[in-house]
Amino acid sequence: MKVTRIAYSNNLNRAKYSQLVEQAHRLGAVRALVWRRFGSINGVGISDRQIRDQWLADGTAEAFSVLANAWKETVRDAMADIKASREAAKVLVRKAIHHHYHTQKERRDAYAALKRDTWTSDAFLCRLMRKHWRHGVSRTVNQIVVRSDQYRTFTLPGEGNVWLAVPSLARRKMISIPLNTTVAPTGTLRLIVRDMRVEVHYAIDAADLRELRPCGTAKIAVDKGYSEVLTDSEGTHHGQELGDLLRTESDYLKTKNARRARIRAVIERARNAGDHAKADRIAANNLGTIKRDRRHRRFTSRVRTVTFTAVHAVVDKAKHIIAEDLTRPFVSRKRLGKDTNRRLATWTKGITAEALTHVSERRGSALTLVNAAYTSQVAPCCQILGKRLGDRLHCTQCGDVWQADHAGAINVLERDGDPDISLHTPHTRVRQILQERADRHRTRLPVQDSSPTGRRANHPMRANCPANGKQCAARPMSAARSIANFSIRPDNWPRQ
Ligand SMILES: [Zn+2]
Repeated sequence: MKVTRIAYSNNLNRAKYSQLVEQAHRLGAVRALVWRRFGSINGVGISDRQIRDQWLADGTAEAFSVLANAWKETVRDAMADIKASREAAKVLVRKAIHHHYHTQKERRDAYAALKRDTWTSDAFLCRLMRKHWRHGVSRTVNQIVVRSDQYRTFTLPGEGNVWLAVPSLARRKMISIPLNTTVAPTGTLRLIVRDMRVEVHYAIDAADLRELRPCGTAKIAVDKGYSEVLTDSEGTHHGQELGDLLRTESDYLKTKNARRARIRAVIERARNAGDHAKADRIAANNLGTIKRDRRHRRFTSRVRTVTFTAVHAVVDKAKHIIAEDLTRPFVSRKRLGKDTNRRLATWTKGITAEALTHVSERRGSALTLVNAAYTSQVAPCCQILGKRLGDRLHCTQCGDVWQADHAGAINVLERDGDPDISLHTPHTRVRQILQERADRHRTRLPVQDSSPTGRRANHPMRANCPANGKQCAARPMSAARSIANFSIRPDNWPRQ
């Protein structure tokens, strides 16, 4: 597995910076052209070499006015991006194939056509791909991709930090960039030119930085909440500062965007009145994106830090982590509407998924993904759909109150090895299965409260939540397990 490292330029002078900006800008036009011409079905089955040869032959390349190596690398990079977007769409199409075809052979043929990119001649696959793979547009104008044999690194005598010499717009003239690190970047570089400095992104093998911290020994399930990064099946909350972080940012964005909209309205009015000078002036001075983008990057990196720290804390305990498949969209985009907070929370799911995969791999723990349908609604005590009130989950059968995320994590743990509910069981079917199980053991149970030694007597109610010490109404894991193992377990319920 590869991980990205970033080195930054240190006191880069203005002349060099503006040269790099110009180069990145010209390469941006190349990138946009690649996306425009090959970012859809037209680009399927075409390699970057074919594009390169064609553009060299028909004179397209001359208009770029950058060195040949620079635009060729950009074409390669853009084609790789296009391929990645295409592959992402295939995940959804594969699922649709499974539903559409019923014999093994038909399915196999369709999967193969999808994989070999020969789907363009198949009407069904073509329609699906066009539906899930929208034509992309590139507006990136601040990147320069430099191949490993096109740059060199060096140090000056008496100086620890590394310098990086990259090609300029003129042949045989290099631009030397002082970096803020003593580690020389390697492999293909991606220079991102912004905020008066250059970011040097490069990939290194994760094996080279294998963590010395070992993982734990337990088997732990995690549930993604809204106010914290994760809650584990032992009831511990990890990364609780995430909720505040998201709320603050969402409030900030709400007022900020409202004010920007108001300024935009003033511009619009000025333009309609014919005062273009005023409109241009406001657009240039009051609607900039530099500070906004800088703030966004800072916010993103804070969220990432909180998330990765939380996942590390889970891996400290766990050898085997069970989690829901967070990359699966389960809320439709439309329903999120204008609610920034929920949108941000949804966005953090991707980061959590990334952190779970990477940290597990680096520290040697196993990660199992399970179907998460209804895990946040089932009361672990009686295995029935409970009633959710805020972050509480009420069991309608025995009256227990659970902290919803803790209950979710316990249910996720139960899903591992569930004989009926696999990762891809549709949620409607999951609901049906849960309903059947509940009905089956409800008929076997004695009438509630009829016996003094009933389950209720066993409930250690209202224990302190191990994470925050508050009375969060969730019982510690051990108690929950002992009850789950009590007589109410249906026979086909998997034992851990
Ligand atoms: Zn119950």
